[in-house]
Formats: sequence, structure tokens, C-alpha cells
Amino acid sequence: MMKKKWIAGALSLSLLSSMPYAVTAEAPQKQWTHVNAYEEADGSPFNSEHYNFVKYSKIGGMLQKIDRESKRVTLEETGKSADGYPMYVVTISNPEDKGKYGHYKKLRKQMFKNPQKAQDWIAQNPDFKVPVMINGSIHGTEYIGSDAVLQLIDRFANDDDAETREILKNNILIFNVVANPDGRVDGTRFNGNGIDLNRDFITQSQEETKQTVDLITEWNPMVFLDLHGYVNSSDGKPGLIEPCTPPHNPNYEYDLFSKWALDQAEAMEAEIVGNKANYESDHYKSMTGTYIPQRDDSAGWDDYPPIFTPMYAMYHGAYGYTLEAPTNSWDGVRWANDAVMGALKFTTQNKQGMLTDQIEIFKRGINFDHPYHEEGFFPNAYVLPVNEKDPTVTEKAVNHLLENDISVEKSVKSFSANGKTYPAGTYIVDMSQAKAGLANTMLWDGEDITNDTPAMYDISAWSLPELWGFEAIEVKEELQAKTAPVKESDYAGSLNGKGPYVISNSSVQAVKLVNDLVRAGESIYKGKDGNFYVKTLAATNKSLVQQSGITLEEAVLPVEKEKLTTLQVAILKDGGMNKAQSHSGTKLALERLGFSVTEVTPKEVAENGLRQFDAFLFSGTDALLQYERLSVGNKPFAVGSKEAYDRFKVNVHAFIENGGKYISVGAGGAKATSQLGLTSVKINTGSANSNGIVKVNYSEDEVTAGYKASDIGFVYRPVWFTELGDAKAVATLAAGDFFVAGHWKGNEQASGQAVIVEDAEKDVTLIGIEAGFRDHTDYLFRLLSNALYQ
Ligand SMILES: [Zn+2]
Repeated sequence: MMKKKWIAGALSLSLLSSMPYAVTAEAPQKQWTHVNAYEEADGSPFNSEHYNFVKYSKIGGMLQKIDRESKRVTLEETGKSADGYPMYVVTISNPEDKGKYGHYKKLRKQMFKNPQKAQDWIAQNPDFKVPVMINGSIHGTEYIGSDAVLQLIDRFANDDDAETREILKNNILIFNVVANPDGRVDGTRFNGNGIDLNRDFITQSQEETKQTVDLITEWNPMVFLDLHGYVNSSDGKPGLIEPCTPPHNPNYEYDLFSKWALDQAEAMEAEIVGNKANYESDHYKSMTGTYIPQRDDSAGWDDYPPIFTPMYAMYHGAYGYTLEAPTNSWDGVRWANDAVMGALKFTTQNKQGMLTDQIEIFKRGINFDHPYHEEGFFPNAYVLPVNEKDPTVTEKAVNHLLENDISVEKSVKSFSANGKTYPAGTYIVDMSQAKAGLANTMLWDGEDITNDTPAMYDISAWSLPELWGFEAIEVKEELQAKTAPVKESDYAGSLNGKGPYVISNSSVQAVKLVNDLVRAGESIYKGKDGNFYVKTLAATNKSLVQQSGITLEEAVLPVEKEKLTTLQVAILKDGGMNKAQSHSGTKLALERLGFSVTEVTPKEVAENGLRQFDAFLFSGTDALLQYERLSVGNKPFAVGSKEAYDRFKVNVHAFIENGGKYISVGAGGAKATSQLGLTSVKINTGSANSNGIVKVNYSEDEVTAGYKASDIGFVYRPVWFTELGDAKAVATLAAGDFFVAGHWKGNEQASGQAVIVEDAEKDVTLIGIEAGFRDHTDYLFRLLSNALYQ
């Protein structure tokens, strides 16, 4: 992600208004630090009802007042959102525990340094406290979460009844007050970068996510409650409280979670129902329970992928829950408040047993003792070899593991594993460690769960090695290697020889270096082999190579080569169709590749055309071209009218005829391309919930440079192309069983079919693979840069 420059709110406003239309990546970004209530959205058209929720701009002041007046409260500003708003964390405990949080966090770390000792200690010291973390409104428009958090903060800061005192005697309460400030201010589900933060916990591309990860790894909370909305029903059981239906991810120690999870959920339900007389509306007054997926259903609400906040927290030993309040109203706030109170009463009564089992998870990890896993499910270790010329992908992976509390070591001498010798400097993840489940869910290949369940809620494959593009070799034998612990991975790039040099098309960082050098005025050439070449480098630009981490080797300049220029790239903006910004992942991918990217809305393309751009990407839903039968919520984001649609179409055709480059990504992009008359290939799609890692055959072409003939891809709402006519297929799904991991019913019909095609005459490329999915598929990002530099 780009480094953003910090400037005061007022200054940024004046800069913005004087900026030319095409904003470059270097330009200062919008950085608000203050907002007033009048600038905030009053709600979202996607919500059927609204109430006078507490505006984000009021919350800082409310918290400061409580902090001043209560001896139990600690208020921190732990970071900023994508748009620059403060993130507030409030910790509440008895005054005598306040100021000892460092000590308590250290005690918590004993759980994985010496789990047996920690279990013995809590058995002998029953006055210990357990941290319970409550996450407010990670989806911006689910306003009730932060409002319930504010009520709970007020109660635990000020009240002195027996119940409050008893809970504070046994718990430390940690509130992430507004987990998504941008979303609350703007009235959107996602943050200012268009990312759904509650899908970001495997990738951790956003600052808000990193802040929550830090909070979780600091405290290792025993319980994690994530407050959402809205799940309603008329059967007397509105709302939803996890635990989930199958499939459960096999990397959990699920038996230990299960011992308490349903009982705690039912304690929350009982608290809600027990207080039903206090609610305003009859709907709530007549409640008999709530929907608990694990108890009430067999499929449809799973906890499989580690992308959701509570599921991610479970890998740190937390009993993690998503709570979905029934309605966007003060009754909805009360429901969430009661649910949390039910959970706190439950932890107060059961902390001894619950904490013993949380520690047991870490004990199993350290002792490599997984009684409910098949022998060999967890490897003994993963070996992460380092590519000396371009170590940047492994570097990113190692730092990611470390930030997630996973121990990584580095060999100090050469060693052998699986009959192969690895040099000193190779990384090793020993799987005898406390958070082995998290390490494995990040490093394993995943599994094909197509036949395990009728449908998945979201993605079902995410393998970091495959989708980020580094090697992680499973070692099942006992590994003999001399190692030292790693605190950080950091490589400096360098120049070997006097030049000319080759920059291999090997990683996101390599392409970023190319774009940085072009922008710095260097003459960079692209060879037919897809690699990049430079004769010499100005002394002032050598630091760019150093920062990149990549070593450039001497090479002969190819005869056939093309000089690169800075491209003006436009991407069609999805402002929030169906509560998602479908282009956002691709936009972030392009920025990480070092491109300057301008978002253009469908209306802007219709009005202004694309004259000032070199390339135009359509990555996202074809509904952006719809102008009829749109819901109230979707209306603002689409092209608007038949007239506007016609102009959009004319402008895109004119852009391509004048030499513009058109690239579509994914199923929606392909359908739109067909609708616009830019391709005559047949577009075939799988069902909306299908996704996974696939085997792909890449043929030799500029778009596929840097990929192996037999390699991988990622699909989400899969799309493939048939009846190609003159169009050229440059990538096809492998023949036979190509599906590596994930969930996709009926995938056989796509076997051997085209997934990237180029038009014979026009500069139109259809990429069916999810090249920039949620900023996660780093390994596939270069399909985008290859297509742009074709
Ligand atoms: Zn939600």
C-alpha cells in the first residue's frame, strides 16, 4: 500500500479542490482528522429502518469525558483509519488493576511460554482476570454495534451495582469502539479504501485490520464478540448468535472451543429473552429466543475461512462470536447490549474452565499433540526457501507470520529436508508452537470441500504460499537444523556489475521498482521475454533499487525491446453496489504494482469519456451498467439512464479505436465487456458462491510472462470463455481435475476451458482469473501489469 502523507484537514481540502482531474499516486490523499455531524451520513439506503445513532464525530468527546470522570477507564487512540479518523480503544477494569495492563499482558504470554505452569497458576489463584474484547461496528452501517459499546462503556465506567462489580472483579473489558470509522462517517459497509474489513483478516491489507490484529496479539483475549446487524425473523427468534454450522476449519482445536461455545451462546440468548419486557417494540417483547446456527441449522453459516474477525481471533485461543442484532434501532442496540451482558456473566462464572481450555490450545501446539487430528495433518515444519535475487515475497510472508505471533526461525547452517539441501538463511516454521493452527491455516494448500457442504458463505481457499507466490515446503519428517529466531525480515537490493541490468518479472516489488524507475526518469525497456532492462542507473535512483530488496544482475539489452512510459490508468469505480466495492481489490493491487490509478464512475465515463487515459479496467459487477430495476441502495452507483449507458458505450468504443487499452477482470467485467459489444466470445459463469484455487496452463504470451506453463490461479464467481472465434486464449484451466482447493459445484464443465483471452483486432483483454482479489492474490497481480505493458 502507498505511504500516505499526513496533512491537516483544512489544508487537504484546499489542495483537493485545486487538483487536476487525474490525481497521481504521489498526490496527497484525502486525510480528514476532524469531521462534524453535519458531514456524516444519516444512514444507508440499504437499511430499511433508521434511528438517531451516535455520530462518529460525537464519540471522541464522549469517551474523553468518561475517561476524565471514571477511575476505571483507559482511553487510547491506537491508530487511524484509511481516511485518517482516530481509532479508539477503551479498556475498563477495577481501578487497582488499571496501570497493571503491561503486567497482565505478560501474564497472558505465559500461556504459550509455559502452558502447564499457567494452568497450574490459575488453579491456585482464582482471583485472576480474563480479557474480553468487544468489537463495535466493523461494518460501518451496522450502527448498533458501536452504540451498544458506548452504553456498555458508560455502565462499566460508572455503575456500582453488585453485578457490575462482580464482572469487573473477574474480567478486563477491551472495547474497539468504532472498528470502521470511515464506514460510520460515510454510511458504507467498507472502509475508505473500499475494503470489507471483516474479510481482511487473512490478508491484513488495511490499517484498521492491523490495529485489531495488534490488539488481539497483545491481549490474547479469552472471548471476542463482534457486533453486527442485521438478521431478523418473524418466528419469535430474531437476531443471530454464533457458533456456526459446519464446515469448521480443520486447523482449529474445535473440540476445546465446542466445550463452551454453545453454552455461552445460550447464556447470551437467555439474557436477551429474560429482559424482553424492557424492549420498546412488540417484535422484541414477544421474543422466545434467537437463531444459533450451530444449534438450529445444518449448513449455511460457517466459520471456515480465517477472514472474519472472530474466526481469526479463535486462532489466538479466543471463543469468537459474530452477533447479528435483529434491527437498526434502539431495540437492536439493547439486544446487542444484552447479548454482551449474557456473555460477561457466563465468563464470570466459567472463567476457570474456559481459560484452562484456551491454554490447552497453546499446550497442544507446543507439544505437537493434536488428539482430534489425523496423524500427519500438521507437518512437523514448513521450510521457506529464499530467492536470493528477489527475496521480497518471502520477506513479506515472514513478516506477516511474525506480526501474527507465529515463531519463525532461520537456519544458520545448511540442512536437508525431504532429501533436499537448503542453504543457511532459509526460513523454518517449526510447527511445535503455541499458535500452530494459525501458522497452518496460513501456510497449507487448503482442501477441496465441494462435496462437504451445499454452499459456502464466503471464500473457501486462501493459501498464502500459492496466492502470494512464495514456497512453503511441508516437512513431515523430524527436521535437524541449526537455527536462530527471527525478529524481522529485511533485505536490501543491490546492483551487480556496471550494467546494463535485467529486472526480472518476478514479483509485485519488481514491477513496482520498474514503475518507480520510469517515474524517476529512467529509460526502462521491456523485452519480448517479459523482463525489464535498463542500461545504467542515475546515482540518485540507486536508492530505489536498495529499497526494493531486489538484486539486479548484468544482462545484454535485447534487440527487440519497447521503452516504457508512465501509463495513465483508469478503473471503473463501484461506489458500493450491493454493499460492496467490487473494484477496490484490483485498484489496491495496481497501486502496489506502482501504477497511478484514477477511479472513474460510470456516470463520469458517460459524460467525459476516457480521452486522458492510456488504459481502462472494468473489474467488478456488470450491474454498474444497469439503469432499470435498480434498488434504491444501488441506484447512485450505476450508469443512471439509457442515454447515459449509450454514451458510456460510445465513449468506451471511441477510447479503444483511438488506441486505448481495455482490460476486464472477473465474471462481472467479462459480462459487461460482452454487453458493450467488445467481445464475441461466449461468457460462462459458475454460481455466485463458488471460489477457489485452480490449476492454470499459461501459454507463452506477453500477458502471461513470468508464469509457468503449468501454474495456479484463483477464481471467485468463476467465469470461463468458449466459442472463441478469432480471439486468442492465452490461459486455460488445466484439463481433467483442475480444482485444487475451495468450493465449486459443477466445476467439471470448465475443465480445459479458456480463462484469459485477447481479441484478435482490438486491444481488449478478458482476464477471468481474479488477478487482484481483495488485495490478496499478489502472485496474480502481474497478470494486470503484463496486460497493461503489453
Ligand atoms: Zn456485518
